[in-house]
Amino acid sequence: MAGPDSKTGQRKDPLRAALPLGTVGGIPVRVNWSTAVIFALIAFGLAAWDFPALDPHQSPLTYVLAGVLTTAVYLASLLAHELAHSLMARRYGVTVKGITLWLLGGISELGGEAPGPAAEARIAAAGPLTSLLLGGIFIGLAALAGTGHPARASIPGVIFTALAYLGYRQNCRCHTDRTASVTVSYCACRV
Ligand SMILES: [Zn+2]
Repeated sequence: MAGPDSKTGQRKDPLRAALPLGTVGGIPVRVNWSTAVIFALIAFGLAAWDFPALDPHQSPLTYVLAGVLTTAVYLASLLAHELAHSLMARRYGVTVKGITLWLLGGISELGGEAPGPAAEARIAAAGPLTSLLLGGIFIGLAALAGTGHPARASIPGVIFTALAYLGYRQNCRCHTDRTASVTVSYCACRV
């Protein structure tokens, strides 16, 4: 179902002013400038508050490095979410124009319609299922690293816990916007 023109225009905005990062599996990946804002906010919050609260016996540099690393892996998992949409779309013969990461998540831009409701449902489900799988892996790694026991708290364990938490907080809404000339599968993930 096509949304109102103003909304559709708004959803295409992040596709402008985006820098190319490279290609993954032949799919162009771009990053909008607003990604730097969310990167800085998450990394700062983790390094300044969350990590020191969870594991108080580390140096400030360790918290900063852990915050930056965690945020980078988090954005990589967001990219994996979008790649899952795009790769599933390509499997059904839908052209993938590219993926753009921005302030509120990612956008998989598809060049056509899914061949039927079943394909459309699978393309929409592929992203959230990938996030769920990654969240499960991070929770498992956190358990292995010993964050379940406060006395055994360690930076790796805290990182995995943070990633699982950030993944859990991803509130993704995916749907497809169609106009006469373009079909955009849109996925906004609140962080
Ligand atoms: Zn999605």
